[in-house]
Amino acid sequence: MVWVVFNVAIALVLMQLGVFKALEQVLGLYSNVAIAWVGAIVADLVINKPLGLSPPGIEFKRAHLYDINPVGVGSMLIASILSITAFTGLFGPMAQAFSSFIALITAFICAPAIAYATKGRYYLARKPDASLNAAAEHRCVICEKSYEREDMALCPAYRGNICSLCCSLDARCHDACKPGASLREQTNAALAKLLPTALSSRLDSRLGHYLLLLTIVTSVITGALALIWMQESAAVVTDAALIDALGSGFLKLYAVLIVIAAVLCWWLVLNGESRRVAQEESNRQTSLLMREIDAHRKTDIELQAAKLAAERANLAKSRYVTGISHELRTPLNSILGYAEMLQHDPSIPVARRDAVAVIRRSGDHLLSLVDGLLDIAKIESGKLALEVDELRFPEFLAQTVGMFRLAAHNKGIAFVYDEQGKVPAVVRADKKRLGQILINIVGNAVKFTEAGGVTFRLRWRGDIASFEVRDSGIGIPPDEIDRIFQPFERGSQASASGETGTGLGLTIAKMLTSLMGGEMTVDSTPGTGSRFEIRLFLPEVREPRAALPTTLPDIGGYAGPRRRILVVDNEAVDRRFLINVLEPLGFEMFEAASGIEALRLVPHVHPDLVLLDIGMPGIDGWETARLLRVNQEQNGHPHLPIIVISADAFEAGRTAAAGIAPRDYLVKPVGVATLLGRIRVALGLVWIAGPVVNDGDDEALPDHLAQPLRELGALGHVRGILDKLDEIDRIDSRYHRQTGRLRASVKAFQLADYLRALGAEAK
Ligand code: ADP
Repeated sequence: MVWVVFNVAIALVLMQLGVFKALEQVLGLYSNVAIAWVGAIVADLVINKPLGLSPPGIEFKRAHLYDINPVGVGSMLIASILSITAFTGLFGPMAQAFSSFIALITAFICAPAIAYATKGRYYLARKPDASLNAAAEHRCVICEKSYEREDMALCPAYRGNICSLCCSLDARCHDACKPGASLREQTNAALAKLLPTALSSRLDSRLGHYLLLLTIVTSVITGALALIWMQESAAVVTDAALIDALGSGFLKLYAVLIVIAAVLCWWLVLNGESRRVAQEESNRQTSLLMREIDAHRKTDIELQAAKLAAERANLAKSRYVTGISHELRTPLNSILGYAEMLQHDPSIPVARRDAVAVIRRSGDHLLSLVDGLLDIAKIESGKLALEVDELRFPEFLAQTVGMFRLAAHNKGIAFVYDEQGKVPAVVRADKKRLGQILINIVGNAVKFTEAGGVTFRLRWRGDIASFEVRDSGIGIPPDEIDRIFQPFERGSQASASGETGTGLGLTIAKMLTSLMGGEMTVDSTPGTGSRFEIRLFLPEVREPRAALPTTLPDIGGYAGPRRRILVVDNEAVDRRFLINVLEPLGFEMFEAASGIEALRLVPHVHPDLVLLDIGMPGIDGWETARLLRVNQEQNGHPHLPIIVISADAFEAGRTAAAGIAPRDYLVKPVGVATLLGRIRVALGLVWIAGPVVNDGDDEALPDHLAQPLRELGALGHVRGILDKLDEIDRIDSRYHRQTGRLRASVKAFQLADYLRALGAEAK
């Protein structure tokens, strides 16, 4: 309804004003222009294209077109001028009547003629973009919408593909994609061709532009007024006075319009010029910015490369540290193991005990270095997983305090332990790592205090534990506070005090605190003392599991039948160490130097447990474990327990895939208590204090089998004995315990034991 009312109202107003009458006359005139225009287009399509005067296909993209194609514009202009002149009656009434036809025919003649004359050069301003794939859709870098190839053009100003719409709307690119094809350049080129050089170069100045613009505008005004004058004067042709009055009115209007046009043109030229200057400045700034962005991009690429290289180097470092730890741990394992055994060996003379103690101390120091480095490498590479479990907090604290109270007492300094508020019975924490932090901080306090004492204070509130360790020791100079948290950095006072240390403890303690989501702060005054504070989230466990593991009792053996353990390790010293530890406890020990040998041995010796090394030549421990499991399943045997004893702390993550509990992954050097703890769980043993005799189920070797063994033993032919033992095992597995024991003796070159076991006299 609104539309109807609105449109009817407009129509009524126009009729009242006599606009339709005026329109009728004007439209008659303009129809000539319209016919000339349509004629030019039709001529181009139906004559020029088939004749090959214009390129095949029709191009619509502004980026590919000249602003002015003389074929269309020229033929339309010539046809319009001719037909309008005819329309005015200048060529007589006949031509006036046929002015429309004159427009059409002229356009039809001019279009091919101009195309021929210009050789069709002004149809396409640039070649098609070969980089644009015809099949795919392309994304516009400005509006970020996707279009087909026909709608896209490669834009040098935006350095990408842009769509036709964005291209048409952009006014700042100055048609950089088609040099020489803009209106301004085309006009200049045309003028340069038509006018003498001196004049054409002058025209390309401010005054020249002004004069050109003024000429165009005044021509348009003159033409328009002339047309209106002709129409008006024709209407009042009989009245001379009226024509005079009308004439003087038109003249005045014409003069005023020319003056206004002159001023406006000057303003337009100045405005255009200032816009161009501003545009040039903006372009300059843009290109500077682009250059800066390019430089940043390059720097960014270099930084990324440097970061990648640093990460790779870090990874290489972690691998290197792991490798070194493997190499160091293997001999250390034996050094510490044997030192531990020798220390408790009553046959060692007292004079030599000190030497053994030194070996053990040095080994321990070396081990703490290796462990420290490993911990740092593991934390840095994100491979250290916290083993959070229930922890009996008061017992744990009592152990820690007890350890340092004794050390402080021995040093002659006071040690005060102070609990503020309630301390929960059980908290959730990684016992090993929490202990590592506290032992380091409290240990340092005791170590670096010569007089006065150390106060260890615990405040536990809202599941947050604050450990405060205060001492009256040598203190740390302010400029060293940051440095001492770096690996291998030791304070100047500490070095001067003669206290030994690795310089790794604080680094690890701080890293572990951060890993647990806590924080460590320190303030210290040289000569007065230091205060370390560690805040950690240790949530209380209100309903703890019934029994938490306690320490192992003194072990002499175990109850029940004798158990067989197979040690698989390529390092003979490590095998021997384990055998030496376990054999006295009543275990029957077998050994294999490789995964293959272990696989060969298991069906004969039927071990109850396998202690397996990981890093072995040939098939490694993981593969051995997998094959053992497969064999066991195939033979319908029950699950064979495997405990991994590896020098590589980084491999622990692979236990799940091998069907081994993470707790059964022990890192060398293994503490005897830890190992026995795992063996007890794996075999379901009950330890017994004091000497124990386990029931054997040995089948004595019949003489026809024992005799050749005795003979080989008398000859000392170890290889021959081993082959014979293997053969016996193959023939009859009943004797595997006997052969196993004999094999162990022979491999240790204990031929006397071997012969004694066979009932022969050793020579
Ligand atoms: P280490 O104790 O093996 O030298 P740490 O990493 O544990 O290595 O400590 C680094 C350094 O921090 C020490 O050498 C010492 O200079 C300083 N430091 C740590 N704790 C204290 C403390 N309680 N009093 C004085 N200095 C300390």
